[in-house]
Amino acid sequence: MLVTTKELFEKAYGKYALPAFNVNNLEFARAVAEGCTKTQSPFIFQISRGARKYAHPELLKKIIVGIHEVYPDLVFAIHLDHGDVETCEQVLKEKPLFFTSVMIDASHDTYEENIQHTRHIADLAHSVGVSVEAELGMLGGVEEDIAVDEENACLTDPAQAADFVKRSGCDSLAVAIGTSHGAYKFKGPGEPKIHMDRVQEIQRNLPERFPLVMHGSSSVPEEIVEQVNRYGGQIEGSKGVPETLLSQVPQYGVCKVNIDTDLRLAWFAAMRRELAENPGNFDPRPTFTAAIDEVAKLVARKTEVLGSAGHLSDFK
Ligand SMILES: [Zn+2]
Repeated sequence: MLVTTKELFEKAYGKYALPAFNVNNLEFARAVAEGCTKTQSPFIFQISRGARKYAHPELLKKIIVGIHEVYPDLVFAIHLDHGDVETCEQVLKEKPLFFTSVMIDASHDTYEENIQHTRHIADLAHSVGVSVEAELGMLGGVEEDIAVDEENACLTDPAQAADFVKRSGCDSLAVAIGTSHGAYKFKGPGEPKIHMDRVQEIQRNLPERFPLVMHGSSSVPEEIVEQVNRYGGQIEGSKGVPETLLSQVPQYGVCKVNIDTDLRLAWFAAMRRELAENPGNFDPRPTFTAAIDEVAKLVARKTEVLGSAGHLSDFK
């Protein structure tokens, strides 16, 4: 069943968060569907501009529609990740509509421009029944073609968040609370610093049951990075958001947690192992199947961490 993120968040609020998995190709789409079937979890497929460019928008669309047909019991939203005004307008004018949810990311513009762009997209989206995520504050790391260094990253201001939500008309808000995009989220020794107090303050300032979103929230599991490196990879000093912390965020109104890096790492852990252990093989299928299985396993684990496992029945 296809749903909007708004419908997902209404059920999830305060109890669990939906994992939003980035998808670029058939293999990742299948891995997500298999993982979420295993744990009976609703989820969000998210598609970035980069994914559309890589796979071709129409081909990617067919893959997702295919998943919907082959896994009729699954419940998911199809979300445009980090859309600009132009891409949002374009997908909201498509007939038939494909996306059930879009993110308008004008967080790199001035505050007033961010409100203006978000309001414009929210009005357009709501007129066709699509939900809208916006972003306030700035995450570090590299997302698509925009890189933000640590000094320019800034946390979401709770008072501004209240004003922003009221004036922009968005349905959910991505907040900057210390996470960042990519595999190197935190520099230096010690535990990563995530500002949970900030999330709580933002939640207190917003209307009741207003859904928050966390970007850059992969955990970069040590054992997966180890496997990548054991078979020739070179990923050093990577660090992610601890799973123990992710398990706590639903109680603060976080309804969506974005996961991309972890899936990529799991894919390469399996690929490198398979290639190293079967040097004579030249059939891509067993290699890719092993990688799909590894990603599916991680997907299932994410649904357990975020508490969405077992909640398919909320939508029956
Ligand atoms: Zn993001």
